[in-house]
Amino acid sequence: MRIGKLGSALIVLALLAGSLYAFREPISLQIAKRVAAQRMGSNPLQDLPDGLHIAVCGAGSPMPDDQRGGPCTLVIAGQQMFVFDTGNTSARNINKMGFNAGNIQGIFLTHFHSDHIDGLGELLLQRWVSNSNAQPVTVHGPEGVETVVNGFMQAYSLDRGYRVAHHGEAIVPSSGFGAKAVAFKTQAFETTLVYDSQDTKIHAFSVAHAPIHPAVGYKIQYKDRSIVISGDTTPSVHVTKAAQGVDVLIHEAMSMELMKLLQEGAKMAKRDKLEQIMKDITDYHTSPVQAAEIAQQAQVSYLLLNHIAPPLPLPGLVDAFLKGTAEVFKGKIQVAKDGDLLSLPAGKKSIDVSHRF
Ligand SMILES: [Zn+2]
Ligand SMILES: [Zn+2]
Repeated sequence: MRIGKLGSALIVLALLAGSLYAFREPISLQIAKRVAAQRMGSNPLQDLPDGLHIAVCGAGSPMPDDQRGGPCTLVIAGQQMFVFDTGNTSARNINKMGFNAGNIQGIFLTHFHSDHIDGLGELLLQRWVSNSNAQPVTVHGPEGVETVVNGFMQAYSLDRGYRVAHHGEAIVPSSGFGAKAVAFKTQAFETTLVYDSQDTKIHAFSVAHAPIHPAVGYKIQYKDRSIVISGDTTPSVHVTKAAQGVDVLIHEAMSMELMKLLQEGAKMAKRDKLEQIMKDITDYHTSPVQAAEIAQQAQVSYLLLNHIAPPLPLPGLVDAFLKGTAEVFKGKIQVAKDGDLLSLPAGKKSIDVSHRF
């Protein structure tokens, strides 16, 4: 029987695949060692161009979503790293994107709904141990931030003792554990400067998330680039005003039509209380079309929708989520997913989009 060239090639490939399969464990171990060394030895901050960068470390809402964790936006301004809101996947996603939580210089909270703070404990721990930080990190927020920070400090006080006892003061200095809360006040129609250093200015402004008071959004400027983070809010003139002419508006978005489907589902399942909750939560958020209107009024270049609700597990649901937005906003619009990176190099107009997972 003649095997022919194709047959011989297939036999060689089969033998090769067989040997690779037989040696899969040592091969995987070698790859894992090399990747771990590369990850631990790299400094992605130095690889990024000088500018303002947005890394999405949580694009979702409290609803379970495979593509989106709890609200978290990592903002890199030059060589400084700041985190805005600390939802449940913050520390893991920051790490997965290749950034070192030990380099976080400041945390900013928009309000104290649980989905915006429930990853704070893990993030504070990672920030402390990753770089043997000897000073606690500052957590900025409106009044009430002390209650949140002190609560986490207390909950983690036993763990602090375990870590120091296990690794020693030289590796995890006890002075660097946790955070220091810095509260600021916001006036109804004014922005408040809450950070000013190294070409970076951060302003806070009030938003409309009643009955939750206070609730704020943030404007971040680095050199000639700027972004606004809306926080949780109904359509707010304060967001429109703060976002005038910024490069990127990061606005929360909830599809009222898709939420209605969930309400109807809860009704059919006879889950009356759940149906009521689904209805209640639509009254303190913004629809994608409303966010697009704000982006158009503010003349921003790019609208990044985040705090996405409900989850969008099918491609067709993204189309339903965005329905009507292109008619009102002429710039670029994106539905955020965890791992998205938007880079705004200083001295340029460009917005470079990539994904780091
Ligand atoms: Zn909220
Ligand atoms: Zn929220």
